[in-house]
Amino acid sequence: MVEDRFSNSAWFERATKSMPGGVSSPVRSFRSVGGTPYIVEHGKGAYVYDVEGKRYLDYVQSYGASILGHADDDVVRATQEALALGTTFGAPTKPEIELAEEIVKRVKGVDLVRFVSSGTEAVMTAVRVARAATHRKKVVVFEGCYHGHSDGLLATGGSGIATFGMPSTLGVTPEAVKETLVLPYNTVPTIDADVACVVVEPVAANMGVVLPNDGWLMSLKKSCDLVGALLIFDEVITGFRLSRGGASSYFGIQPDLWCFGKIIGGGFPLAALAGRKDLMELLAPAGPVYQAGTLSGNPIAATAGLKVLEKLDDKFYVDLTKKASLLKEGLESGIGQRGIAVRVPQVGPLLGIFFSDTPVTNFIQAKESCDTGRYKQFFNLLLKEKVALAPGPYEAMFLTSSHSDHDIAKTIESADSAASKMAHLEAKQW
Ligand SMILES: *Cc1c(COP(=O)(O)O)cnc(C)c1O
Repeated sequence: MVEDRFSNSAWFERATKSMPGGVSSPVRSFRSVGGTPYIVEHGKGAYVYDVEGKRYLDYVQSYGASILGHADDDVVRATQEALALGTTFGAPTKPEIELAEEIVKRVKGVDLVRFVSSGTEAVMTAVRVARAATHRKKVVVFEGCYHGHSDGLLATGGSGIATFGMPSTLGVTPEAVKETLVLPYNTVPTIDADVACVVVEPVAANMGVVLPNDGWLMSLKKSCDLVGALLIFDEVITGFRLSRGGASSYFGIQPDLWCFGKIIGGGFPLAALAGRKDLMELLAPAGPVYQAGTLSGNPIAATAGLKVLEKLDDKFYVDLTKKASLLKEGLESGIGQRGIAVRVPQVGPLLGIFFSDTPVTNFIQAKESCDTGRYKQFFNLLLKEKVALAPGPYEAMFLTSSHSDHDIAKTIESADSAASKMAHLEAKQW
């Protein structure tokens, strides 16, 4: 037995006394699944270990920032060496230059890269560049996509039709989202000539995983090109998760600007916007659009990101996709045969889970499936089996190369037993 003062609940109790809700980012608090979060002490590969010494098979993986698993030996070694050289200078460094070159090499259409410290900044800046380039104000986004927490992008549509955004949180003014238009995912908008840009997650991964309909991304590109609006791919999740070159190379569609984050920091705070030379050179000091950052292009983060990318060759994605397919099939058949409706959407190595009878193609459908309470049940039953999914129904499941076939088999087995308990509980209610 763990001494009380060393337990997860004792630590979380302390956390709530010095941090709002006990966390540094909301979903970590377990509010939507109930109970107390486990407090992570360390992680290795596919596993995390909490302060009570319990080990969990981890599908959170920092919401996709990790694709090799925790504390990869090569990444640890490279960053340790980099640490000893000094951590931040306020001057250009080698690692950021090499990382920029690597991104340019991998992503067709990208000429230049500007590093920032979070995905939020990357999208915020991409929108600024788009507005500067087009001399227009309006921004089109899709309901259920997440583009970070900058004011202008915290907009919600509400109904199923194209609407002007309403603030999606208290503290954002109606004025801040006045130029943000919110549409349902997978609908092709008629874009007016006053639209600066369309921002989209090429695979939506923040409302569960929702796939773009066949041809949809291409029609977005065509609609944009028709009126001179820019297309921005928010690849903070899909970038270097779907393929060597991310979603644009996976789908064979080039946007005007890209946003990257998560994987490219190798577990450190690093993100980027990237794109064509003529657009990117609008950024100061090359051009008139101001943007800056004290820790931008941080050498430790860039070293880690570079080390990770080094390992992501074509074979890596073939192998990870195989694992994802194995997990998808196992979950769908295991849970399905217990009479629980389930769907496991998959794009390459990226997976989600919906407890639903019908395919989910937009936010309204995602919400219908997520609000049934089934995910909460499933999450808690799996956690008892020491399999950790994200503590919220709107997140993806993140596989890494360190998840073994044995880990996947164990996950399927645990899901099967969880589904049988869910079916049993349901039968009792009747
Ligand atoms: C996580 C995420 C962001 C925000 O990135 P942060 O580093 O958390 O600011 C933006 N867009 C997408 C698609 C994301 O998944």
